Amino acid sequence: MELLEKLCRASGISGFENEVQEIMKKEFSKSCDDVEVDNFGNVIARKGKGKKKIMLAAHSDEIGLMVKHISKEGFLNFVKIGGIDDRILMQQRVIIKTKKGDVTGIIGAKPPHLQKEEEKKKVMKHDELFIDIGAKDSDEAKDMVAVGDPILLEPNFGKLNNNLYFGKAIDNRLGCYALIKIMRQVKVKDATIYAVATAQEEVGLKGARVSAFKIDPDYAIAIDTTIAGDTPYIKENESSLKLGEGPAITITEASGRGVVTHPKIREILVKTAVEKKIPYQVDVLEGGMTDGAIIYITRAGVPTGVVSIPTRYIHGPSSVFCLDDLNNSIKLVVCALPGF
Ligand code: ZN
Repeated sequence: MELLEKLCRASGISGFENEVQEIMKKEFSKSCDDVEVDNFGNVIARKGKGKKKIMLAAHSDEIGLMVKHISKEGFLNFVKIGGIDDRILMQQRVIIKTKKGDVTGIIGAKPPHLQKEEEKKKVMKHDELFIDIGAKDSDEAKDMVAVGDPILLEPNFGKLNNNLYFGKAIDNRLGCYALIKIMRQVKVKDATIYAVATAQEEVGLKGARVSAFKIDPDYAIAIDTTIAGDTPYIKENESSLKLGEGPAITITEASGRGVVTHPKIREILVKTAVEKKIPYQVDVLEGGMTDGAIIYITRAGVPTGVVSIPTRYIHGPSSVFCLDDLNNSIKLVVCALPGF
């Protein structure tokens, strides 16, 4: 749990994944034959020497914010990095990663008492909010932070009831953790396994694109989080995935615009789950994509599958998952790989 918590608390908005890269490099080097960080920020670990190349990918970046402007009163305006719902922002605590160290801030807005009836009804957009770092004016604020500094939602991690855990950046430090564990356990004689902690997924699947081109794999699996539907006000036909009922094997993402899992990969994953008595669920996603979507259209096409961990409140400051699903996703991939 210590490693998982460390990964979730680490700082890594898209393009600024350094802290996560360091953890991945260190952990991969304990069990892999070779580890490199490419000039895009992807951490690529290799194990084995076989002819067949299998790529495993999990993105290391997380959604966050970035300082856009410092007002003359010393407050910060920001842009969103990745898919963030404006409604989660108000009153969040954030950490601004500056050259001089971490600066704490509060996302502020006009209080409800001062809002007109019309204002109360609408969602405050991110460009109507600001970050308060306690600076008295623009000079003091500019001494503390700079335009372009990355901003994290405040790190948090903990346990709820029934083996459910919560934390920041659950999407996709769960995948990063799974990659580390898979590389420790996997034994494949006639293949080379590449595990890639990809950079900049949340802003356009970019790290997966360049690393898949470089590796030129024969097969691939992306490991990510997906949307659980087991909370109030989500209809079963919107998402039937439940926490604790196993990892999800994706059939397609984004109504077919994302990955369409290759039948061979799908068959191997399902057969493995049945044979090894690993619980699993089937995921047909209407919206949302993973690294799988770009890896499978690399070069002449790569048969690709996606294994994901159902997550509540995805892209929120504290998402919730079940530890059993994470452990079962690791087991599923480790057991499935020899069948490729
Ligand atoms: Zn993700």
